[in-house]
Amino acid sequence: MKIHEYQTRMLFSKYGIPTNAGSVCTTLDEIEEAYQMFGPMVVIKAQVHTGGRGKAGGVKLARSEDEALEFGQQILGMDINGHHVEKVFVADAAEIKKEYYVGFVNDRSTKSVVLMVSKEGGVEIEEVAQRAPEKIHKFVIQSDIGLPSYLARKIAFSLFDDIDQVKQGADILKKLYHLYVDTDATLAEINPLIVTPNDELLAIDGKMNFDDNAFYRQKEIFDMREATPDELKEIEAKQKGFSYVRLDGNIGCMVNGAGLAMATMDMIKLYGAEPANFLDIGGSSNPVKVVEAIKLLLSDKNVNVVLINIFGGITRCDDVARGLIQAFDELNVDIPVVVRLTGTNEQEGREMLKETRFYAVETMSQAARKAIELSGRNTTETQS
Ligand code: GDP
Ligand code: MN
Repeated sequence: MKIHEYQTRMLFSKYGIPTNAGSVCTTLDEIEEAYQMFGPMVVIKAQVHTGGRGKAGGVKLARSEDEALEFGQQILGMDINGHHVEKVFVADAAEIKKEYYVGFVNDRSTKSVVLMVSKEGGVEIEEVAQRAPEKIHKFVIQSDIGLPSYLARKIAFSLFDDIDQVKQGADILKKLYHLYVDTDATLAEINPLIVTPNDELLAIDGKMNFDDNAFYRQKEIFDMREATPDELKEIEAKQKGFSYVRLDGNIGCMVNGAGLAMATMDMIKLYGAEPANFLDIGGSSNPVKVVEAIKLLLSDKNVNVVLINIFGGITRCDDVARGLIQAFDELNVDIPVVVRLTGTNEQEGREMLKETRFYAVETMSQAARKAIELSGRNTTETQS
């Protein structure tokens, strides 16, 4: 789960991590008020669930009220990487002597929390990671030790030369680590963490993501959720017992089992097309569930063909076929539907789908190729 920068700042404040003051605005009137409070120099910042706002023109320094309103008008309503800007954060602009990067992240390869720090913070951090990875230092945090003062100081020494900055840095790292652990975060980063001309450390941007599996014990965090339309759809799907992730292609997939769903996506890609989604409808495939799943798929306007891939284990394929026929009777849609059934009673199942609206096939590769053909594309590989 993602939160906005202004919400991350609220958490930073709660944990004593210094940030520059500001307020959230949704209208020009509010921006004017904020300017009067935080001027003469303010920074206007788009609040969206995506990084790289600065580069996209979503972060602007304003030196007068007119400028603040002009930039506010530009940024409110802007589209940044497909995210619509509805809120901006207007902050008292800080003076920057140097920008640093610090971030905690769950690292799968070491199965630990990893702290990454760099003296090359700012909007180019991704390029630094590509071009000069040695400039980003990684510290594996052992969960039973955590980040005691001596370690935090040691790490801070790798960033700062000035002892006072080392102390401030170590303090911020410890606080950020506590925040990370307390809230079941999967990412907590400050980029940039700046040193001001007065040699004070200040977090002027913050980003946090949280583990969805911690929903049950992080009420305060999850109450902050401001989901985008896509995220809302995924949440609703979860409530219905599906796991659904929207993607950019046009073949809507409905599959039982996460592994089979991944394999289905791979197969579509192998033949040169793109899946519209990952959708695991779970074990059973009763008509009610199928109707819900199809509605979910079709709410994505890019979907022009549906591929249903079902492995009948305890669920029998003839039951699935019956369910599909019943579900599509209710649905009244004219989109082509390819069905691949395998497992218990597969022949009976396919037999039932003959002479119906469904394109019933036997193998996964047939299913992928048929779906691609129906969606109006050519397959790039021939059958092996
Ligand atoms: P991001 O692009 O989404 O990471 O947005 P940031 O909040 O990190 O802002 C991008 C860049 O804008 C920063 O790296 C800074 O160089 C600059 N910036 C952001 N806030 C301020 C500020 O208060 N004062 C100054 N002088 N520059 C800022
Ligand atoms: Mn940033």
